[in-house]
Amino acid sequence: MTTFDDAIDLRIEEEILDRCTLCGKCAAVCPMPEPAGLDASSDEAGSKLVSSIIDLLRGGEASPESLEWAEICTGSGHCIEACPEAVNPRFMLAMARLRTRRGKGEEAARANGRHSFGTMSNAVRALSRMQLPADILERINPPNRQQGNATRDPEVVYYTGCNMLRTPHIGLLCLEVLDAMDVPYEVMGGPGQCCGIFQFREGDTKTAETISNRTMGNFSATRAPEVLAWCPSCVVQFGDINFPTFERANQAPAPFQMMAFYIWLAGRLDDLKPLMTRPVNRRVALVERPGVPGARDAAIQIAKAIPGVDYIALPEVQRVGISSNYLTLLPDFKEKLLEEEFDACIAADVDTLATIFHPCHRETCHLGEGKPFEIVNLMELVGESIGIEVEDLFKKLKIMGDVDAIIADCADMIEEHALNVDALRAHLEAEVIHANPFEGVFSQD
Ligand code: SF4
Ligand code: SF4
Repeated sequence: MTTFDDAIDLRIEEEILDRCTLCGKCAAVCPMPEPAGLDASSDEAGSKLVSSIIDLLRGGEASPESLEWAEICTGSGHCIEACPEAVNPRFMLAMARLRTRRGKGEEAARANGRHSFGTMSNAVRALSRMQLPADILERINPPNRQQGNATRDPEVVYYTGCNMLRTPHIGLLCLEVLDAMDVPYEVMGGPGQCCGIFQFREGDTKTAETISNRTMGNFSATRAPEVLAWCPSCVVQFGDINFPTFERANQAPAPFQMMAFYIWLAGRLDDLKPLMTRPVNRRVALVERPGVPGARDAAIQIAKAIPGVDYIALPEVQRVGISSNYLTLLPDFKEKLLEEEFDACIAADVDTLATIFHPCHRETCHLGEGKPFEIVNLMELVGESIGIEVEDLFKKLKIMGDVDAIIADCADMIEEHALNVDALRAHLEAEVIHANPFEGVFSQD
């Protein structure tokens, strides 16, 4: 049997090394080299960046410039469309990072993966519990697989991923919408049903494989033909890495389809539109990220279908990244993009800036304070038009901006979940008070 690691190596050989002609087009369209001070201004300069990555994947060394390019890939995916040889350059750079991490040894990879996953997992637990009572939290973070609203066989799995649970109102809104549409579903997600990205990024492919296979096994056990993934990082991790590698290792396709939630919802607009009867009279721009093909267009379609919403495209804003936290490695660039986006909203007289994905929401939800526009998540607008409201407690806490005040405000939840206040204080300091859009880390997908 072909192992996961063998399958990865075969994919590198067949999908990258056998195909890449070093044309350089992928680097030339990539938005990241320029703000990082790397030259990819022409196909020729791009070719130089790529050829050194190819050297690394053939077992040699990469130049510092090429290694930097690999490290600052934000996953926008412009390169995928640009490649004339059907290479996925985003996968190519992920493999370059993997080779670099593996160079540090298995033990280091395992320790770093454990640390990265543990940090995320502890924060998700603390921040979700301080917001919601156990019975409501269980709806979006069931301890085991459970039936959701399904009295029939589930038509879909609603997959939260891990980190959306920090902004749980988004998940609850999605479930309310599925209920309103009478779609039978099961809910999966939370750190116990991870995609394995934390271990994979650190080079611990063995643990990543174990986690990913367990989660895929649980998807299969529902017998739902479609998994609706909320998290864009999960879509990319499963789409670029887990599914193709699983299929290469097992010579068989996964027994279900994974689709970004917004793409599925846009495909069901005929069912959604009759439910959206209340006008939402707002001029709405979206925080648009291109990393998941089709998700941005789907979100625009959904926004336009909400009665009363005037969707405003912000043409001058550069669209980069899977979600905004991916830009954190270049904080000046990230700040510039955010400023441009806010300026464009003001110039276009937008009164609502709607995030599509949860990391963008988590980072910016409080920044509408004092500005002429409000920042909400797109699912809040969908809910408003149906008559569903779920309070954005994370935003409320971020706006409070004071650890003692937040702890006092959440006293009943802290007691109900027996949360350790000192640990909670540390999470709040790191992620609610001092977390600004330029301080996040990749572990906060
Ligand atoms: S995925 Fe985006 S950031 Fe990464 S290499 Fe491709 S274009 Fe550049
Ligand atoms: S665009 Fe494709 S073929 Fe050209 S250098 Fe990039 S990966 Fe290679």
